[in-house]
Amino acid sequence: MDQAQDHETGARVDVLIGGGGVAGLALAVALRQALGASFSVTLADPALDQSLSDPRASAIVAAAQRLFQAIGVWDAVAGEAQPILDMVVTDSRLTDAVRPVFLTFEGDAEPGQPFAHMVENAPLHAALLARARDTGVVLRTAGIADFAPSANGAEVSVGLTNGGRARARLLVAADGARSGLRERAGIPTRGWNYGQCAIVATVAHERDHGGRAEEHFLPAGPFAILPLKNRRCSIVWTEQADEAKRILALSEGDFHAELERRFGLHLGEIAAVGPRRAYPIGLWVARDFIAPRLALVGDAAHVIHPIAGQGLNMGLKDVAALAETVVDAARLGLDPGSAAVLERYQRWRRFDTMAMGVATDGLNRLFSNRSDILRLLRDVGLGLVDRLPRLKQVFIREAAGLVGDVPRLLKGEAL
Ligand SMILES: Cc1cc2nc3c(=O)[nH]c(=O)nc-3n(C[C@H](O)[C@H](O)[C@H](O)COP(=O)(O)OP(=O)(O)OC[C@H]3O[C@@H](n4cnc5c(N)ncnc54)[C@H](O)[C@@H]3O)c2cc1C
Repeated sequence: MDQAQDHETGARVDVLIGGGGVAGLALAVALRQALGASFSVTLADPALDQSLSDPRASAIVAAAQRLFQAIGVWDAVAGEAQPILDMVVTDSRLTDAVRPVFLTFEGDAEPGQPFAHMVENAPLHAALLARARDTGVVLRTAGIADFAPSANGAEVSVGLTNGGRARARLLVAADGARSGLRERAGIPTRGWNYGQCAIVATVAHERDHGGRAEEHFLPAGPFAILPLKNRRCSIVWTEQADEAKRILALSEGDFHAELERRFGLHLGEIAAVGPRRAYPIGLWVARDFIAPRLALVGDAAHVIHPIAGQGLNMGLKDVAALAETVVDAARLGLDPGSAAVLERYQRWRRFDTMAMGVATDGLNRLFSNRSDILRLLRDVGLGLVDRLPRLKQVFIREAAGLVGDVPRLLKGEAL
């Protein structure tokens, strides 16, 4: 595709990124934008020339929105981004006629800044790809097949799936949950599979959702209704893996009936539009986020339950932290792939990632079960939080990514 050189050029690049999902592309753009033409960035992904057939939409929290603004991508998706204006949480059985609301969140994370926007993955990816081209990222339609640090440790030598080769001072694994780069580096992951799948579909409805997101904790797991533009919602519907398989294979009429039992009729008549797909759910965190001349970002470093809509937002925190670390080093004339740079990145991101992994795992275990006692306890807890506006504001700011040691891009500052 485009000007990409699919054959070995012999030249060494500063950073080579394996994986052109949102995390890999955002990192490539951030680096080029900050460091300009004298800093070479190549991104390799075998799927670059295929249009993204991802039916998902992502909750992009305030901090991630600031990153997209800072790297010149937000304007391209802003028109289609639906602000989340409030959120309700319910906890009930599927057969309950009424779902009492236990917790509500409303208001902005900061004045004029909604805590999150819903953005569909396909246009976000397209906007990032266009921006990568504009900023001069070299795009190679090939996968990373193998790599090894050179004998003197000053660079990494990379083999591509199309037979090409490349050399880089830093290789970044942004190749997703089943990262081959992570595996090749011998980095183990810790975690488990939940035996659950998230069914994703887009639902059109009669009445306006008013920017409200809904999280219904049903016994099989959370059922989220997330507002999109044009009287549509994206649903993330958790079921045991076997049940998800059955639901996915239903005829349109039967699928509609199952959907309506969970979605309800509060937004009028509903209709599933576009494809439905199921994603296996697990929690995995890489033991290390770095290896010699290698850094892991995004799902290659961690996968969490989609219960809180934070997976990509965490990946973007990695991107912001790694970009800042590399840019600071490069500006001082230091080697962007040195052990000191990589260790700074790892220190910044590992603890935060563990904390989020534990939090989402706890939420899933607390809510994905049929115990009446646990149900009573969690409902008392939700009710208490609901009566404490200050605490709710703390949660909103935390979920919006505005708390802690926040990298500059997530504050909307240029690098
Ligand atoms: C149902 C569901 C709902 C979600 N909702 C949200 C949400 O609301 N908010 C949120 O923040 N997160 C959400 N997430 C998480 C989010 O979707 C992921 O965290 C995010 O897509 C990961 O992006 P990535 O760029 O790291 O990886 P990917 O998007 O997986 O990209 C990896 C890329 O690497 C490429 N690749 C693979 N192998 C190689 C190779 N050898 N060489 C080169 N390239 C390679 C692939 O072709 C691919 O393009 C959700 C997840 C699920 C399952």
